[in-house]
Amino acid sequence: MHPKEIAALLDEPACAHNHKTKSGCSKTKPGATAGGCAFDGAQITLLPIADAVHIVHGPIACAGASWDNRGTRSSGPTLYRIGMTTDLSETDIVMGRSEKKLMHAIKEAVHRFSPPGIFVYNTCIPALIGDDLEAICREATQRFGVLVVPVDAAGFYGTKNLGNRLAGEALLRYVIGTREPDPLPPEVVPPGITLHTINLIGEYNIAGELWHILPLLDELGIRVLCTLTGDARFREVQSMHRAELNMVVCAKALLNVARKMKERYGIPYFEGSFYGITDTSTALRTIAAMIGDADLIARAEALIAREEARINAALEPWRKRLRGKRALLYTGGVKSWSIVSALQDLGMEVVATGTNKSTEEDKARIRELMGEKARMITDGSPRALLAAVAEYRADLLIAGGRNMYTALKARIPFLDVNQEREFAYAGYQGMLELARQLALTLESPIWPVLRRPPSWRNNLVTVPQVA
Ligand code: SF4
Repeated sequence: MHPKEIAALLDEPACAHNHKTKSGCSKTKPGATAGGCAFDGAQITLLPIADAVHIVHGPIACAGASWDNRGTRSSGPTLYRIGMTTDLSETDIVMGRSEKKLMHAIKEAVHRFSPPGIFVYNTCIPALIGDDLEAICREATQRFGVLVVPVDAAGFYGTKNLGNRLAGEALLRYVIGTREPDPLPPEVVPPGITLHTINLIGEYNIAGELWHILPLLDELGIRVLCTLTGDARFREVQSMHRAELNMVVCAKALLNVARKMKERYGIPYFEGSFYGITDTSTALRTIAAMIGDADLIARAEALIAREEARINAALEPWRKRLRGKRALLYTGGVKSWSIVSALQDLGMEVVATGTNKSTEEDKARIRELMGEKARMITDGSPRALLAAVAEYRADLLIAGGRNMYTALKARIPFLDVNQEREFAYAGYQGMLELARQLALTLESPIWPVLRRPPSWRNNLVTVPQVA
C-alpha cells in the first residue's frame, strides 16, 4: 500500500479521535504497534465473515499470533475457524517462491472448500520483499472464478486500529457493491408492513450478542442486510450498498466504511450502542427516526414500551441485590459510557471509569451520565488500577481480560466486558445476563474465604526460647 494511502486512512475526518492533539490516529507513527499490529487489526475485523476462507500470507507466527482472539460466533458455517497460512520460511524467501506458494494456497483452498470468497492478508515479510499481492489476487480471481480479496495490512504499517480501517478499505474496494441482496421469501415478510434494510457496522457478535438484537429488528420489519462482521456471510457484505441506513455499533474503527458508503451510495449513518436499556431503546428509536417511516416509529415505540416493562420486571430481584454496589470500570472508547449507562440502569454506582481510548465526545457523555465530578482514569497499569479500587472503595473491577489476574490476585471481584467475554450483554436480554453475572461475581462465596486470615495465623506455635 502506498504511504499516501496509509496517511489518508489515518486521517479519518468522521472520527473524533482525529482532533486529539497528541494521540489521534493521524499522529501515530508507522511501526507503533503496541497492542496489536495492523495485520492483527485487519484479521480481527474480517475473520468473523464465517463462510469465507482467510489465508495469512507470511510466516506461521503471524497467523498464530492473531487467530481467533475474539469470542465471535457464527450461526452456521465454521470455515473461518480453519487457520490457513502460506507458512513462509527463509528458504521460500531466498528462493523467491513466496508468490508461487500463495497462488498454490489459494488453489488448494478453492478446491477443498469452494468458498464464496477468499481474503488474503499481507504481513511484514512479503510486504518487505515486495510480493505483489494485488496482482496475485487478481489473477487468482480470474483463474478460479472466486473473488480473492487482497488485504494489504502488513504489521509495520501501523496499529491495530489502522488495520481495522485497512480491512474496511479492502471491503470497500473489492467486495461491497458486487452483488444484489437475495430476495426474501414472501412468507417471512409480515403482512401490511413495509420492510426496511440496515447494516450494523462494527458489531462482531461476541458471545452471540447479535442474537439478542436481531429478534427486535425482525419484529419491526427491519432486515439486517449485513453485520460487519459478526456472523456475516460473504454475499451479505457484497450487498451492503443496498441498505437504507448504517448503524456504527460501539466502535470508531470502521467509521471510514460508514462515511465512504454515505459518500458513494448516499446511505446515512449514526453511532449507537446496544448496551443497557436506555441505549438499546435510543438505538431503536434512532433507527426508526432516521428511516423516517411514521408507522415504523409508532411500532418501535410500542416495542420499546413492552420490552422495557418486561425487562424492568425481570431485573427487579437483581436490582435489589446490586443496588448501591460500587464499580470501577476500566474499558476504553465508546464502551466506557455505554457500560456506565448499563450499570446505572441496574442501580449501581460507577465510582470511576477508564478514558484512555475515549474521545472528547465520549468523555462529555460520561460527564453527562456521572456528573461533573466523574473520575476518569487514564493509567491502566495493575498498580494504578488496584490503587484506584482502594481509593474509591470499589466493590468490583469491570475491565478487559488482561486485567483479570490483577483483580483476582488482589481478591477483588472481577467481570470481563471486553472482546474475550463469554457472555452476551447486548440488548434488553443482555442486561439480564449482565445483572446475573455481576451478582454471581459479587456474591461468590470465594471472597469471604479468600479475605479471611489464614488459619495458621491464629494457631501460631510459639517456639520456646533456648537459653
Ligand atoms: S504482520 Fe508483522 S508485526 Fe504483525 S505479527 Fe506478523 S511479523 Fe509481527
